[in-house]
Amino acid sequence: MSGTAPVPARRLLQLGALPPDLQRRAASRYALEPLWTEAEPAQFLAARRGAFDGAIMMSRHGCPAAVIECLAAAPRPGVVACFGVGYDGIDLAAARRHGVQVSTTPDVLTECVADTALGLMLACARQLVAANRHVQGGAWLQGPFPLATRVSGKRVGIVGLGRIGQAIARRAGGFDMAVRYHGRSARAGLPYEFEGDLAALARWADFLVLACPGGPQTRHLVSASVLDALGPEGYLINIARGSVVDEDALVAAIQAGRIAGAGLDVYANEPHVPAGLLGSDRVVTLPHLAASTRETRHAMEQLVLDNLAAFFATGKVLTPLA
Ligand code: NAP
Repeated sequence: MSGTAPVPARRLLQLGALPPDLQRRAASRYALEPLWTEAEPAQFLAARRGAFDGAIMMSRHGCPAAVIECLAAAPRPGVVACFGVGYDGIDLAAARRHGVQVSTTPDVLTECVADTALGLMLACARQLVAANRHVQGGAWLQGPFPLATRVSGKRVGIVGLGRIGQAIARRAGGFDMAVRYHGRSARAGLPYEFEGDLAALARWADFLVLACPGGPQTRHLVSASVLDALGPEGYLINIARGSVVDEDALVAAIQAGRIAGAGLDVYANEPHVPAGLLGSDRVVTLPHLAASTRETRHAMEQLVLDNLAAFFATGKVLTPLA
C-alpha cells in the first residue's frame, strides 16, 4: 500500500444546467458545485471566495465579475470553460484584469451553424415551412402553392465574416451567390468585398445574414433604418444573437411588409419570442438550434472537457478567448 493520499477532485463552479452528457462526464471528473440553484448567489460567492479551481458554463449562462473575482481569489486564478462560442454573457474585462483564462468551443460548431443559416435562407425565400403545411394540411388538393422567391444567384450580405461568416460565404458560393460583408474592419486575403456602411450592405443585399458576436458593441446594430435599407424584397437571417437586432423595429418592418421576411434562430429574451414574430408565414423561427446536432454537440462537450484537462495539466486552455 502506498502512502500517497488521493488527490482531491478539482472543484468547479457550475453556472447553469449543462447538457446531460456533459453534466455526467464533467461530474465524473470534477466536484461540481451549482451556483444557479443558490438562493443568494452573491452571498454564496462571497463566502466561497478562492474555493474553486474553475467554472463550467454554457454561452447562455452569465459569468459576471463576481464569479471571476471568486475564481481569482484562489491560489492560482482559475479557468472559465464555456460550452459555445458566444461570450456576450462573460465579463471578459474582469477575466483579463484578474488573469482568469476563458475558453470557448470555436470551429467545431462552425459548419452546423452555417448550414442552419443556409437552411433559413431557403426556408424563408422558398417558403418551405408554409409549403410543407400546404401538403400536410391537404390544401394541395384545392390548388397549387403560391410562387416563392429564388435563392441561387442572389446577393448575400454577411455581418461578421469570422469563422461562421466565412463558412456561410463558402456555402453561398455553391449557390452562385454574390457575397459582400460588413465588420469593424476589412479582412485581408478573402475574395469578398468589404462594405463599411451596414445600411449600404443591406441596400445591396437580398439576404442580410448576421454572424457577429452579441453584447453591447453590436446591440441593435440592425435598426429600423437598416431594415428599411434591406427593403421589401430583402430577408434578414439571424444566427448570431437576438440582441444584434432591434426586435421592435423588426416586428414593425415585418408587419408593414417593409422587409420580405426573416429567418431567426436567436432572440433577445430567449425562450420568449415577440408575439409579432409568431404566426406569420414570412417569419421562420427556430429555437436556437443552429449548433444542435448530435455530432457537433458531442464535439463541443469534448472540447470543454479537453480545455479543462489542458488547463489543469499545463496551466493553459486549448482554445482561449483572445
Ligand atoms: P468569430 O470567428 O469571432 O467571428 C465574429 C465576426 O464578427 C468577426 O468577423 C468580427 O470581425 C465580427 N465582428 C465583431 N464585432 C463586430 C461589430 N461590432 N460589428 C460587426 N462585426 C463585428 O466568431 P464565430 O465563431 O464566427 O461566431 C460568431 C457568433 O455567432 C458568436 O459570437 C455567437 O454569438 C454566434 N453563434 C450562434 C450560434 C447559434 O446557436 N445560433 C452558435 C454559434 C455561434 P471584425 O473583428 O473585423 O469586426
